[in-house]
Amino acid sequence: MAFSIDNLLRPHIKYIKPYSSARDEYSGKEGVFLDANENPYGSLTGEPFNRYPDPYQLEIKEKLSFVKGVRPTQIFLGNGSDEAIDLLMRAFCIPGKDNIILLPPTYGMYEVSASINDITVKKVNLSEDYQLRPDAILSEVDKNSKIIFICSPNNPSGNKMKREAIRTIVRGFDGLVVVDEAYIDFSDEPSFTTELAEFPNLVVMQTFSKAWGLANLRLGMAFASEEIIRILNLIKPPYNISGLTQQKVLESLENSNKIPDLVRKITEEKNHLIEALIKLPFIRQIYPSNANFILVKVWEAKKIYDYLLNDLVIVRDRSKVILCEDCLRISVGTKEENEFFLQILEKYEPLTTH
Ligand SMILES: *Cc1c(COP(=O)(O)O)cnc(C)c1O
Repeated sequence: MAFSIDNLLRPHIKYIKPYSSARDEYSGKEGVFLDANENPYGSLTGEPFNRYPDPYQLEIKEKLSFVKGVRPTQIFLGNGSDEAIDLLMRAFCIPGKDNIILLPPTYGMYEVSASINDITVKKVNLSEDYQLRPDAILSEVDKNSKIIFICSPNNPSGNKMKREAIRTIVRGFDGLVVVDEAYIDFSDEPSFTTELAEFPNLVVMQTFSKAWGLANLRLGMAFASEEIIRILNLIKPPYNISGLTQQKVLESLENSNKIPDLVRKITEEKNHLIEALIKLPFIRQIYPSNANFILVKVWEAKKIYDYLLNDLVIVRDRSKVILCEDCLRISVGTKEENEFFLQILEKYEPLTTH
C-alpha cells in the first residue's frame, strides 16, 4: 500500500471541528476588541500582555520561511519539540493498538510520549557505531506501525546518521518518518527539509533550544507537507506559543546571521575538549560528534560522575542506556567552564587500574 495521509490518520481526527478562537474569527489588528474577554486596561507588569497572541504565529513563520527554505504553510511551531512529538502521536497512533519504532540509544521523549498516549514502542537498536540498520528497521514494521523516529545528529551518541540510510527508511515505509534535527546547526550535513518535496511521509523537526540559545522560551519547529501541518494545527491547543516567546523569537530571527559564529565558537571549544580528554588515562573512547556535546566512554562512569558532582560539575550519566555502558555525555560549555571541568577531571585518580 502506498503512503496516504488519509489512511494513516486516526479516523476520528478527520471529523474534528477545530476550536474557533476569537482571533480566528477576526484576525485584523485594528478595532475595539470586545470579543475575547480580555482585560482592557492592560497587565500588571505594565507591558501589553493583556491580549491573546496570534494562534498561528504567522509573522514568525513568514521570516522562518526564508531562513529554512520552506513555505510558511509547511511550518508548525510547538511549545518545544515535545509538543510536536506528542501531537504527531495523537494524530496518527490509535492508543492500545498502533506502534512506533524507536532506534536506541536515542532521545528519551519519544518513548515517554508514547507511554503517555498508550502507544506500543518497538525498538531496533542502532549498530555498535551508532548507525541505522535500515533492513532490520524495515523488517520490524507491521500494519500498525505508524511512525519511525530517527534522531540525526543523534542524542546521546552525537553522530549524524548516513543520509542514504535515512532515505532508504523513508522510501521503504508507508507511515511517517520523523527526522529530529535538534542538533543540525552543529553538523555540516544539509537539513532533510531539502527533501520534503520528494517525500510526503517525511517530518523534519528542529528546535530553538540548542544553537539558537532559546531553550527557556520553549519553541520547537516541525516541517512537513501542508497536509500534515494542517493536521497539527487542527489539534494543537489554540494559543500554544505565548506572545512573549513570539516576540523574543522574532527578535532572534533579526539576528540569525550570528548563528554561524556561535556554532563555530562552540565547535572550537568542543575540539579543545576532545584534545584534552583524549590524553586522560581513564578515557577509553570519545565518539565522533556532530553536535554540541560529546559521548565519552570511561572506566566506572558513575564514580567519575559523582567525583565531578562533588565539585558541582554536572554531566549526564548515560551508563544505564543501551550501547552506552560506562558512558558520560558532556555538553560543551564556555571556555571558562570547560577549563574548570578539565582542571577537576585531570585530578581524578581511579582507585582500580585496568
Ligand atoms: C534537545 C532536544 C530537543 C529539543 O527539545 P525542545 O522541546 O525543543 O527543547 C529535541 N530533540 C532532541 C533529540 C534533543 O536532544
